[in-house]
Amino acid sequence: MTDAAPLSLYIHVPFCTVKCAYCDFNSYAALEHLSGDWLSAALRELELWSERAAGRLVQTIFIGGGTPSLLEGDQIARLLDAARRHFSVAPEAEITLEANPESVSIERMRGYRAAGVNRVSMGVQSLDPDELRFLDRLHSAERAEAALSEIRAAGFENVNLDLIYGLPQQRFETWRDTLERVVAWRPEHLSCYALTVEEDTPLAARVAAGAVVEADPDVVAEIATWTAQRLTRAGYEHYETSNYALTGRQCRHNLNYWRCGDYIGVGPGAHGCFDGLRYSVVRRPAAYIRRLASVAGGPNGLPSPAIEDIEAITEQDALIDALTLGLRLREGVDLHGLQRRHPAAFAEVEHVIEWALRTDLAEQHDAQLLLTPRGHAVANEIFVRLVDPSLLPPPTTESLA
Ligand code: SF4
Repeated sequence: MTDAAPLSLYIHVPFCTVKCAYCDFNSYAALEHLSGDWLSAALRELELWSERAAGRLVQTIFIGGGTPSLLEGDQIARLLDAARRHFSVAPEAEITLEANPESVSIERMRGYRAAGVNRVSMGVQSLDPDELRFLDRLHSAERAEAALSEIRAAGFENVNLDLIYGLPQQRFETWRDTLERVVAWRPEHLSCYALTVEEDTPLAARVAAGAVVEADPDVVAEIATWTAQRLTRAGYEHYETSNYALTGRQCRHNLNYWRCGDYIGVGPGAHGCFDGLRYSVVRRPAAYIRRLASVAGGPNGLPSPAIEDIEAITEQDALIDALTLGLRLREGVDLHGLQRRHPAAFAEVEHVIEWALRTDLAEQHDAQLLLTPRGHAVANEIFVRLVDPSLLPPPTTESLA
């Protein structure tokens, strides 16, 4: 017997060929010599979770990074065999692997397909040579297109492409050209993210030094609005702030995450959310490998000795997660349900919701609260106020009731 509540599994591959200046993911260049030890550690970590996850059905697996497509097909096969051995994996599970164009080859893709991967998510980012150089990406537009052909030739019928807009001094025309070319390739799914300058990255240092000027937020919002209209016209459903899918091709793994379902993360720097606990795994690959070689258990009864930060999810955390993740989705959130489940925490943010409704950033249909297209374009502005309601003083005696 298995619990019907969806469970997802995330496996983090920390290796990259170069470290891109804007990237704050837990990824490292020139550490490939650790890949054998990393794989042994990840196999052990999967095994350690087996007992704790018993009775739960894994409906999605996501092998992310980093650059998982640096691994060979037999390494991915060992990971997925271990996942199937130690977890109940649904026969129709969505199994995604992240790839970068320069490390894609038809042989590797065939190996991944044979191992059970059924969805590929490739980081294209841009097709403009200057933008690719600015982003430190190693591929060209031609390589990205060839990689997609190789992915298709290996039998993948479910492909996501990642794109980034809102680069400093980006011209609308270069973004439009990238998007038009990519739409013509007809991927089943597109993720279009605005570039964010993350703390402690080389890009943040360049911005602080005045060498790079961040994009104008109004221009970024304009691009986001145009993108949503263009992709909708092309037949893609805008089902999440940054994500678009052809019918039935939404990313099930991320949907579970946005709907606050449980997920187990393994691998250095992975995060997990399981049975009311949130945790993260130690970030440094060498420390991860060392800890998995020990016989110790993990903290708070969790099974992995590589887990280091762990916290119980409070009522307030649960509400903020449900709002900030759920409002990214076109389906929105069940406001009355949230109010019933978390009444005290709800009272704290009620005036922020009311402000979003009053300013046409959100709309309410019966109990369902959704962001408007304008709200999606400035979603982060809304979310920072939900996280810190004092940024928006309670205005009136109006109520949402
Ligand atoms: S390839 Fe991706 S994960 Fe690796 S450094 Fe660049 S942005 Fe980060």
